[in-house]
Parts: sequence; C-alpha cells; structure tokens
Amino acid sequence: MAILLPDLPYAYDALEPYIDAETMTLHHDKHHATYVANANAALEKHPEIGENLEVLLADVEQIPADIRQSLINNGGGHLNHALFWELLSPEKTKVTAEVAAAINEAFGSFDAFTAAATTRFGSGWAWLVVDKEGKLEVISTANQDTPISQGLKPILALDVWEHAYYLNYRNVRPNYIKAFFEVINWNTVARLYAEALTK
Ligand code: MN
Repeated sequence: MAILLPDLPYAYDALEPYIDAETMTLHHDKHHATYVANANAALEKHPEIGENLEVLLADVEQIPADIRQSLINNGGGHLNHALFWELLSPEKTKVTAEVAAAINEAFGSFDAFTAAATTRFGSGWAWLVVDKEGKLEVISTANQDTPISQGLKPILALDVWEHAYYLNYRNVRPNYIKAFFEVINWNTVARLYAEALTK
C-alpha cells in the first residue's frame, strides 16, 4: 500500500470562473501529486510506522527524525489538499443553519476567516477548526502545517499558496479569497462539523 492521489470530485473546469481549469490541473496533477510522491518516499524509509498520516501528524514528535520534516511538509500537503478538494463544489451549496449559528456565535461573521487568509504572510492556509472543547476557531498555518498537529479538527480550509491562485488572480489574493466563497461545499463543512463534535 501507499498513499494514493485522490481524483478531483468534479471536472478540472467545474469551478470556473472562480477557479480556472489550468490552475486546478496544475494544482492537483502536479502540486498535490508531488506531495503524495514525496510522502510515500519518506514513509518507505520507515515501514514500521505505518501510513496513517492523520495519526502520525497528530503527534509529530513520534515521527522518526530523519523523515519528520518531510512528512510535515508532504504528508501535510497531501491531507490538506485532499480535504481542500472536498471543500469545493460547483453546486452553489448553502451554509447550513447549524454551521451559520456556530459561526455567528463564535465570530459574528466570516471576517475573521477572510482576515486570516488575507494576512497569512507567504505560503500557508486559513482554517476554520473545532478545538478540543468543541469550540470554533479561526487560525492560519504556514507552509503545509496541518491543524491536526495542534489537536484541532479542520472543517474549512483555504489554500493561500500562490500556486492556488496566481495564474488567474496574479498578486491579488483578496479577489481569490472572495471567489472561494462562491465555490465552498457547505455540505462538506456541515459533515465535518458534525463529525468533529461527535468524536
Ligand atoms: Mn496547494
């Protein structure tokens, strides 16, 4: 067994005009595929630790030192992107009442998420996560660091690496963030939120 690159759950051009087909093709077939290949190369050096990236990245100190940073980068890169594809949809889904109420109670609006995505310096991600007490938090992480390593359960993710938007939006990250809100798969958010509260 090895980590496998999942197919996109829609066509490469399905999210146009918000996210263009060329970006989706490169992002999935090249960037995500490279994270998968490099994660597998790291895991092959230590077959004794298994391949469950969620478990391994939940406690990075347990990862053998010679592959630790590679798994943080590439294992995290795989998990983050596999989740990101599921959080996008061309189907114009609506935020569910439960998620809307939780966001309103925690933050009043999505401004905190937008701010996290806008202000993350360099490459990284913005996240809506559920903490150990079941509370919503907005965070951002650098590079491919996953919130799982902080004991947090991600329910919404936005990739703000330039590779995610530069072809279409050039340096104007705020326009990409605005477009992201047009293609969020709120059904996935609702499912992840429910799972985070029950586990
Ligand atoms: Mn990416």
